[in-house]
Amino acid sequence: MSDLILLRYGELGLKGHNRSFFIKKLKENIRRMLKSRGELSSAHGRLFFHPEGDEEEAVKILQRVFGLVGASPAREVELDMEDIAGAAADLISKLDLGEKTTFKVETKRANKSFYLNSMEISRDIGAQLLKRFPGLKVDVHQPELRVRVEIRRKAFVYLADNPGPGGLPVGTGGRGILLLSGGIDSPVAGWMMLKRGIDVLPLHFFSPPYTNERSLEKVKELVEVLGKWGLKRSLYNINFTPIQEELIQKVPGDYLTIIMRRTMIRLANRLAEKQGDKCIITGESLGQVASQTIESLHSTDVLAEVPVLRPLIGLDKQEIISRAQEIGSYDISIQPYEDCCQVFVPTHPVTRPVLSDIEEIEEDLELEEKLHEALENAEKF
Ligand code: ATP
Ligand code: MG
Repeated sequence: MSDLILLRYGELGLKGHNRSFFIKKLKENIRRMLKSRGELSSAHGRLFFHPEGDEEEAVKILQRVFGLVGASPAREVELDMEDIAGAAADLISKLDLGEKTTFKVETKRANKSFYLNSMEISRDIGAQLLKRFPGLKVDVHQPELRVRVEIRRKAFVYLADNPGPGGLPVGTGGRGILLLSGGIDSPVAGWMMLKRGIDVLPLHFFSPPYTNERSLEKVKELVEVLGKWGLKRSLYNINFTPIQEELIQKVPGDYLTIIMRRTMIRLANRLAEKQGDKCIITGESLGQVASQTIESLHSTDVLAEVPVLRPLIGLDKQEIISRAQEIGSYDISIQPYEDCCQVFVPTHPVTRPVLSDIEEIEEDLELEEKLHEALENAEKF
């Protein structure tokens, strides 16, 4: 009888080469995120993690690996009904059962050569458990406890479902640049695209001395949170001050935010080209602020050389906040912080910027050298 964690992944719609690519990335990510916590193995269409040390902690981490839909501590036994019931009893004996606990045995039989079918197995194991635990009572509809049995070349028995986050393994969707501020929204946007398999590079613009060290620390903490969800690329920091000073001098207040955003996109374009990123991700949500109207979004879209993904586009602020709380970024995001864009907020930003006006204003800007230098001097953490 051995202890392992049975890993379940969503394989819906995966075929042939895609499937092996998905599993290869998934394995890489598990090994990276759980390094030194145990060994990963695979056999007959299943992944297993063999924890060394704290099993509960390993399960918690596995529940943050995109692509996994469950991570259940299980017992592996021979294909023998006595052994299977024994393993189930052993797992149940560790629980704090009440006076009467309702339960149900659920069996999956992948190995069709086993002499009993799923129904027969469930019934037999259920009967054996009833004999051993007088506090148990069968309820096939809404049981408090589910005993799960999987019949493969060996039998696996487990109780807890421990759902994973689903999604696709990070890296199966190509690379993308996340414009990461210290706010609530962009970390959530990054999380959502990690979940869809994008290998995200967090890019932050800061403006010393207008923004302080603490704001930078905050962004690093947000990157750490995303790291717990499988982010693997390190933070890129671009000093935005020289560019911003140029903009403040020459751009009318109402167009400042929008042109600042366009400048960020220009920089992201260049970084994307250099590093093979296939998209730019932002935390924008339609109508949330003046710079997030359709017209404003369009004025950045026209510049982008790769698709701009805005996974929060249709979410309300409250929905974004709830998600941020689940992810663990919220408490960091609400700490006081200065964003380079907020330092010089215009009183009345345009809500319907006109592209030809923007282009006319930009004609007077001397940005090329500053953009080049900003990128050359980018810091990596
Ligand atoms: P957030 O909560 O992510 O800051 P927001 O609703 O406050 O979003 P804005 O501040 O207008 O909106 O920023 C819109 C988007 O532009 C952000 O979600 C982020 O993707 C990007 N962005 C803003 N400031 C920065 C910055 N300093 N560095 C990198 N990206 C930024
Ligand atoms: Mg912001």
